[in-house]
Amino acid sequence: MDKNEDQLNSSVQYLKGVGPKRSKTFNKLGVYTVGDLLYYLPRRYEDRSNLKPISQVKVNTFETVRGKVLTMGLRRTRKKMSVFELAVGDEGGFIYGVWFNQPFLKDRFKTGDEVILSGKVELYKHLQMNTPEYEILDPEDEDTIHTARVVPIYPLTRDLYQRSVRVLMKNCLDTYLNGVEEVLPIDIIKKHKLIGLKKAMLNIHFPEKMSALEPARHRLVFDEFFFLQLGIGLHKLKIKTGTPGISHTLDTKMLDNFEKGLPFKLTSAQKKVIAHIKKDMASDKPMNRLLQGDVGSGKTIVCVFSLLTTISNGHQAAVMVPTEILAEQHYLTLSKLLTPLGLNIVLLVSGLRRKVRERILAEIASGRVHIIIGTHAVIQQDVEFKKLGLIVVDEQHKFGVLQRADLRKKGVNPDVLVMTATPIPRTLALTVYGDLDISVIDQMPPGRREVKTYWVSEKKRQGLYNFIKKETAKGRQAFIVYALVEESEKLDLKAAVDMRTELQNNVFKDLKVGLLHGRMSGSEKEETMKAFRDGEYNILVSTTVIEVGIDIPNASIMFIENAERFGLSQLHQLRGRIGRGRHESYCILMSAGISEDGRKRLSAMTRTSDGFKIAEYDLSLRGPGEFFGTRQHGLPELKIANLVTDIKVLEMAQQEAFDLIKKDPGLSSPEYALIKEQVKQKFKGKLELLSVS
Ligand code: ADP
Ligand code: MG
Repeated sequence: MDKNEDQLNSSVQYLKGVGPKRSKTFNKLGVYTVGDLLYYLPRRYEDRSNLKPISQVKVNTFETVRGKVLTMGLRRTRKKMSVFELAVGDEGGFIYGVWFNQPFLKDRFKTGDEVILSGKVELYKHLQMNTPEYEILDPEDEDTIHTARVVPIYPLTRDLYQRSVRVLMKNCLDTYLNGVEEVLPIDIIKKHKLIGLKKAMLNIHFPEKMSALEPARHRLVFDEFFFLQLGIGLHKLKIKTGTPGISHTLDTKMLDNFEKGLPFKLTSAQKKVIAHIKKDMASDKPMNRLLQGDVGSGKTIVCVFSLLTTISNGHQAAVMVPTEILAEQHYLTLSKLLTPLGLNIVLLVSGLRRKVRERILAEIASGRVHIIIGTHAVIQQDVEFKKLGLIVVDEQHKFGVLQRADLRKKGVNPDVLVMTATPIPRTLALTVYGDLDISVIDQMPPGRREVKTYWVSEKKRQGLYNFIKKETAKGRQAFIVYALVEESEKLDLKAAVDMRTELQNNVFKDLKVGLLHGRMSGSEKEETMKAFRDGEYNILVSTTVIEVGIDIPNASIMFIENAERFGLSQLHQLRGRIGRGRHESYCILMSAGISEDGRKRLSAMTRTSDGFKIAEYDLSLRGPGEFFGTRQHGLPELKIANLVTDIKVLEMAQQEAFDLIKKDPGLSSPEYALIKEQVKQKFKGKLELLSVS
């Protein structure tokens, strides 16, 4: 076993036909070892297996023929192009292969060679294929690579050529495939009717027939998910069995009293998830829970129950949010609810005067402060806690396994509650959030009305302005949002500033129009939000800084300019800012000059308000990479599997991986030695996440 492993780990540079230069090219593609190369997969395949007698080929059709080289010649056109022509014949006919500007080909062929040509057949004076794929058959060895079979087409870059990659891969398989050992336990293979690993590797590159492809891919996708899930499972296990967490004592009476004092009744969904959280917090295993709930479903109050619990146990809590404006919002909400109970809450944002900041930090370190609210960046940087018992991460679906692992270092082993309003598609919940236990608030507080969504063009602008006037006359408020494009943040900012002036001076003369954007200081933002909340502005013109979490129940109109520039989840978030009170609410998407994708997004918005459907759809439109942004989520990259289309396999693989961990948490049985090796290999550099060593 060791020897084979070594071979697969040897550098590609030592493969025949790969020198230092080519190996650099491969390195750029993430291919360093022979093992990596075996996972450099074709991007598609061409079926050239159907050999036809030359007399039967059809013009304008892609055909593969076999015959002997009859004659050949190299000539030049008047424009100095070289043309190489090769006549190939079988018993019933002949056909020309023609290549432009590849004069060296004349030395590749000899008259009498047995060759195969694959290409589109054309008819000039004779039958002809332009630049066909060719293969000269070795009389000793009939095993073809480029023709007369299902042929792999590899992704290429500069300095990589289709034919040479194919030859290299064939050699590599011939030499090293024997070193590939079956890793999965036989019962899993049997149960899921998987083909063997060797056969899968061979067929994914050189399928014996088209239909051999699917089982090969299936097997490799299963493997990929299996090891990913195994890693996630071992990480989960590490959290649960590593350093014990805090076993919180539940002050039931206090919590019940608090609930009774609320101005509304909790929904049964809220009660359900509060129960999950209480149970987690009471346990001595650290809580690691994801709380999902569509915008407006009432996550904040749920989080308050966890805050109260940790504080009543003499611990501190940190609430981390993605933007300062949201930090300010939470600060206001929580202060209103909790300062009457004598709790000490601080807002920690960037740009505080040094003295103030130092004082706050000292108070946190002394334990006088109960709840610290701030952005991730600020809290992760330099805050020292006296006794951190709970971390709440709000509204952040880009916060991956690695970041959460970092967080844990902040406290003894604090409970972690991640709240997200961007519902996470099931597939991603199984992967990027696979280490979390999941609770869902699947019910809205009573009395909510569905937001009416319209997709309109520029022509409707005047009518829309009139509508806003009518609604504000009734006492409602409106958001007007401008897209912020990264390349020209400044320009867009200017657009928002100018637009506000224009609207205030010319369109809504009798109303008050406020402005909110990301370049404002924390306190400016806070003042503006407060003024809007207090009704001092009828309309708030804003860049997307209001995207997450803002809660102003009286606002009933969300007007989004250049809506096609926004992603689907972002639009859903923006829409979630309204429809929070008892008033009929309207989301208006205005767009001009729109792409196919933009069309799809806007039409999805008008079709559904179900955040889960929107998130699934968004994921399928953009793919997981973009869905998560550029931020590292800390998991190995998927090479074959597709998170959207392979979800069934993902679920099976997760089940098997988790079952295996249940059976043998340390993977210590010799039977699983290879599996353990592989999972460590896959999580190289992140081994501290896993419970095995
Ligand atoms: P989100 O899940 O988007 O964070 P919030 O926690 O901001 O939602 O809640 C949205 C609004 O709903 C707030 O004004 C909050 O006070 C209110 N709310 C929360 N729970 C209930 C409930 N059970 N009944 C009525 N209103 C509620
Ligand atoms: Mg919220």
